[in-house]
Amino acid sequence: MLPIVTHPAYDIPLPEGHRFNATKFSGLMQALGSQGVLESSTLHHPKPASPDDLTLVHDPSYVAAISQGSLDRKQLRTLGLNWSTQLRDRSFLSVEGTLEAARLALAHGVACHAAGGTHHAHAGHGAGFCVFNDLAYTAMRLVAEGAVRQVLILDCDVHQGDGTARIALGNGAVFTCSVHCRVNYPEKKATSDWDIELDEGLSDQGYLSILDQTLAGLRSRLSKVDLVLYDAGVDVHARDRLGRLKLSYEGILARDRKVLTHFRSLGIPVATVIGGGYSEDLAEVSHRHSLIFRAAIETL
Ligand SMILES: [Zn+2]
Repeated sequence: MLPIVTHPAYDIPLPEGHRFNATKFSGLMQALGSQGVLESSTLHHPKPASPDDLTLVHDPSYVAAISQGSLDRKQLRTLGLNWSTQLRDRSFLSVEGTLEAARLALAHGVACHAAGGTHHAHAGHGAGFCVFNDLAYTAMRLVAEGAVRQVLILDCDVHQGDGTARIALGNGAVFTCSVHCRVNYPEKKATSDWDIELDEGLSDQGYLSILDQTLAGLRSRLSKVDLVLYDAGVDVHARDRLGRLKLSYEGILARDRKVLTHFRSLGIPVATVIGGGYSEDLAEVSHRHSLIFRAAIETL
């Protein structure tokens, strides 16, 4: 059975026409149900992260501002979301959901979070629809607890994982690798431990060839990784409104299979998060997000 972490409170109330598809979390669960994925899965609901725990990666004043709804207009514009009690509650849940998925992956080999991938969140501010950085939080919690020696954060969202890179900068126990499109957001890139910058318009074959080289390179660079956090961003798809690559559904599925089978064959647990996915068509974006779950089921 595939452990899947989800929560009924993940959807966000946003104005009609907002670029972020706010009901895609429940849409994804419906897609997984209709594809039969849930028949081979166990569902887990996270508890909210505590503000104290979040200060491991975020400034206490920023965590308090999210709790109290006291972000100023500039901060809200950078975040790209309106504050609401639902946004607050789901942010504390979702960041813990990735940690829960990572714990399940350590126990079972693979686990998927049906949310997460909020990689633009920085220590002191949110950005690009990301409130708290679930990837940095999960990696640093598990390292602090002594559950793992080193965590690899492999970020294949089309945008650079700039928040993750800045939070983990100089932390030898967290290796950040971002595979992203050079000309995409954020304009000012951070420095990951390893950045792979892709040309605009890249399609399946070119992408998968670079991924092969990346996986081989990671293997030679890292020898004590006990866990991989994989951001299976789907804004690499040709129809994505914000991505600039040209991958097909088959290309995304092939990418996810490669990543999972590579690390599973090395005996390294993998926890996956979803990322990206900008489309007005909820069914289409839910289908895209379901691909990583299908790939994960195959590795059981
Ligand atoms: Zn993205």
